[in-house]
Amino acid sequence: MKILVPVKRVVDFNVRIRVKPDGLGVDLANVKMSMNPFDEIALEEAVRLIEAGTASEVVAVTIGPAVAQDVLRTALAMGATRAILVATEVAPEPLAVARILARLARDQGADLVLLGKQAIDDDANQTGQMLAALLDWPQATFASEVSIDGDTVRVVREVDGGTQTLELTLPAVVSADLRLNQPRFVSLPNILKARSKPLDQTDPGALGVEMTPRLKVLRTEEPPARKAGIIVASVDELIDRLRAQALL
Ligand code: AMP
Repeated sequence: MKILVPVKRVVDFNVRIRVKPDGLGVDLANVKMSMNPFDEIALEEAVRLIEAGTASEVVAVTIGPAVAQDVLRTALAMGATRAILVATEVAPEPLAVARILARLARDQGADLVLLGKQAIDDDANQTGQMLAALLDWPQATFASEVSIDGDTVRVVREVDGGTQTLELTLPAVVSADLRLNQPRFVSLPNILKARSKPLDQTDPGALGVEMTPRLKVLRTEEPPARKAGIIVASVDELIDRLRAQALL
């Protein structure tokens, strides 16, 4: 079984985001970038499937600028077999990403596309769903458990207030939620080993995908600043103030 794992390079989840002065996006200058956390989880699951002897190959792919190779190297160090950079300087929108992934899934003969449920930069949560539609493959979103038996994949999904279990026939698209697993730390020997793993490069044009943006960002706003707190002298004062506030 061959698994395709798309990994996006995004602003590290620990970084405090700053909106650019023109309000058209966030400031990326000198900001730490990392693999999208949900993609790390998807990749961990795929690597575990290799280790269990269920999968034969895990191909990591990113669509982004040349520097995005760093997340592919991390993916290779985590255990991906090989990697593909689809190089573009245009910030890719979910539909373009889905079209590129659909083409790669077919060209690479993937049986499963295991991706993150959402990229934490744009919070779109669209790519997996669009990809499944383009390929006309069954999909299970928000997976918290994945098990494979022959050409059947069973997925436990996180839904409001509980879980839902689905059974799909491969080939399929599955998107990873937070509780699917705890990704491994990348060890130094594995980082060194990853240097000799294959990393191919292509571009959207070669895959027949047009990258012209279809969306225009009009405004990006930070959440309102929190008001300063107050210090009360006693529990009684606290209760009085809470009561007064509740009556407002
Ligand atoms: P989104 O629909 O943008 O929230 O992204 C959902 C998932 O699609 C991400 O978690 C990634 O697995 C994948 N994805 C989105 N954009 C890219 C990209 N530029 N390169 C690789 N994978 C991506």
